[in-house]
Amino acid sequence: MTEKISVIIPCFNESENINNTYDRIKQNIKKITENFELIFVDDGSTDNSFSKLFTLSNIDENLKIIKLSRNFGHQNAIFAGLENASGDCIIIIDADLQDPPELFYEMFKKWKDENFQVVYGIRKKRKGNFFKLILYSFYHKLFKLFSNLNNSNDLADFCLIDKKIKNYLISLKEKNIYFRGLRSWVGFKQTGIEYERENRNLGKSKYSIFKLYGLALNGITNFSTKPLSLILFIGFIIFFLSIFLIIFYIVQKILNFEFLGVLPEQVPGFYTIVIILILFGSFNLICLGLIGEYVGRLYEEAKSRPKYYIDEKINFKE
Ligand code: UDP
Ligand code: MG
Repeated sequence: MTEKISVIIPCFNESENINNTYDRIKQNIKKITENFELIFVDDGSTDNSFSKLFTLSNIDENLKIIKLSRNFGHQNAIFAGLENASGDCIIIIDADLQDPPELFYEMFKKWKDENFQVVYGIRKKRKGNFFKLILYSFYHKLFKLFSNLNNSNDLADFCLIDKKIKNYLISLKEKNIYFRGLRSWVGFKQTGIEYERENRNLGKSKYSIFKLYGLALNGITNFSTKPLSLILFIGFIIFFLSIFLIIFYIVQKILNFEFLGVLPEQVPGFYTIVIILILFGSFNLICLGLIGEYVGRLYEEAKSRPKYYIDEKINFKE
């Protein structure tokens, strides 16, 4: 028997895509092996994704379904898949075919012949919403700056990982998962394959700006405490600047010289005060917010709730 491949496909309200996705994934996996399982994780869909999957599962026993009890989010859905995958290597791909299943073969070869334990997709060029593109690029620059990981190109969740990596990942206890980050954090022999990410043909992106913002925050806070150190650093700089400013004003008062065309006794000062107020007010808020993010995450971890609940499993034989 050749190696078994598991493909994990998280789905949230993807009913328009399911049949196409199933066909194209199956077609490409069959070029590699007959020994495979397709694990569709239904992440609490409210459309008829589940019934479509269920119909397919009746005619194809390699198609397995994990139905979660509600929508737990893309990253948790990936984990539900990982924890139930039995392949020697595991492929993770979105249900909307934005990532090409045609790359499976190349990924598989890199794993099998070149012994890479992680083969991840790198998005060469993103298409789509101009506003989102700017945010993405800003985020990746920020991630590069803050995270302790070297590996911070525009990485996709789309990847192939060895069973060993899967086992390491699922043994991690953390709750706020950032799959792409954890995947590169584990190390071992990793490589990337560049590809063009297609636009979504059917259905809408399930990542709203708010969800993306949440993911980006997880990405940064889960892998670094640098933002905290940075706050302290900026705090010190501003403190010294303020001292310098106070000394400057005192000296100006004593020597009574003009600065920016005004003498101290004319005390226009209004704009200065407003600017300082706004600047420091917002700075305070940012700092507080950031600390809140970390505290919030500590709280989440401390509660140690499970990442998801499974409602039903179909075609799993155990
Ligand atoms: N997804 C999920 N749960 C969610 C949101 C998304 O399982 O709460 C799935 C979705 O069905 C898709 C994948 O995660 O297969 C990626 O989502 P999407 O295509 O909406 O993200 P984008 O490609 O726009 O970043
Ligand atoms: Mg998508």
